[in-house]
Amino acid sequence: MSTLNNILKSVIDKNPNEAEFHQAVEEVFESILPVLKANNLYVDEKLFERICEPERIISFRVCWTDDQGKVQINKGYRIQMNSALGPYKGGLRFHPSVNQSILKFLAFEQVFKNALTGLMLGAGKGGADFNPKGKSDGEVMRFCQSWMMEAYRHIGHFTDVPAGDIGVGEREIGYLFGTYKKIQNEFQGVLTGKGKDWGGSFLRPEATGYGLVHFAHFMLTEIDENLNDKVCLVSGAGNVSQFAIEKLLHEGAKVVAFSDSTGFIHDPEGMTEEKLDYLKTVKNGQRKSISAFADKYDSAKFTAVGDKNLWSIPADCAFPCATQNELDESDAKLLKQNGLILLAEGANMPCTPKAINYLQKTNVLYGPGKASNAGGVAVSGLEMTQNRMGRYWTKSDLEKQLRTIMKDIHEKCLETIIKHDLQKQDYLNAANIGAFEKIARAMHAQG
Ligand code: GLU
Repeated sequence: MSTLNNILKSVIDKNPNEAEFHQAVEEVFESILPVLKANNLYVDEKLFERICEPERIISFRVCWTDDQGKVQINKGYRIQMNSALGPYKGGLRFHPSVNQSILKFLAFEQVFKNALTGLMLGAGKGGADFNPKGKSDGEVMRFCQSWMMEAYRHIGHFTDVPAGDIGVGEREIGYLFGTYKKIQNEFQGVLTGKGKDWGGSFLRPEATGYGLVHFAHFMLTEIDENLNDKVCLVSGAGNVSQFAIEKLLHEGAKVVAFSDSTGFIHDPEGMTEEKLDYLKTVKNGQRKSISAFADKYDSAKFTAVGDKNLWSIPADCAFPCATQNELDESDAKLLKQNGLILLAEGANMPCTPKAINYLQKTNVLYGPGKASNAGGVAVSGLEMTQNRMGRYWTKSDLEKQLRTIMKDIHEKCLETIIKHDLQKQDYLNAANIGAFEKIARAMHAQG
């Protein structure tokens, strides 16, 4: 036992001042502790420590010229976390908060998430402490070119395939891809999330949000429930939230609140296709905030960022799709008091450990991001396959494949619950253990 606790201690000690990384590691360690104890994986006691140690961390200077002709400097990174199951795979985040701890936690989460997809995907994460908000297209382009001028030598379609994350969408992927192509003089699927006309998947923008709702649907089926007429809250301003809302509407759910970094909208009458179209134009427009939505629709009320957040609104289902640790224990308590039955994570690690603990203790169905938001990287995996074959799959073909992958992840969780005698609907431990076993087997086999 003490040896096992030493494993965690050793990981934490070796990685000082990395709070987010510690949080992600501790959660997985607690889940797999019984497996380590009971299993011969305990014999290979360094295995967990090996999983926690990135295979390679690349960090570099990114210099670019702003529109005033001034040189700007940012920190760029690519963390190549684990290649036991395939080439490194995971997004790039461009946000001022980006640092090594945040990218390591994201890369670590990605190891488990990618394993759950059942595809040949290793794990990585990268990005920069660059803020694309408020920058011109030219500035973003010069930044992306400079980032790739360094990163190109470390990535490749069979080596490491980055994609988008916060602050990196189709525009950034385009500039990054164009630079890589020029340097290598080769058109290859080195990035996913590409535009539909130049090698991108017809379902990549929708994939995370749609997959999230599929996963929630399968969770609810287990308690003889469904999403029809369920009152839902969705946080976040990116693709994930937009397409989660869209899919929830397809399922007959009532989305009464959503948010961005400026605040949240409460619309008791609920979202409609028309309102969603308006929201998409507001979000994709010239940096208007969602308050414009409240100006247009009488039933909608905007509340600026402050003490109150959208988790104070009574709902059946909650989908945090913004960022890490956006939902804490007090939010979880309020949600439960107001009748919450399900929470599924669209973002990576959006719930604090105490919030998760509270939700699970009070029998709220909890879908951990590793499982519930895996649809995005899964469709990235399909994009890689398409690029290798040099062809496109139709949107409806991809929708079927995505649904099947999310169903398989859900079933894998249920199988793990039975195999390890976990609590009914303990998706957290099931996802962590199921993924760990697969990665551990592969790492063990590869020596
Ligand atoms: N950034 C996304 C995630 O957190 C997608 C990664 C990818 O498509 O490679 O899973």
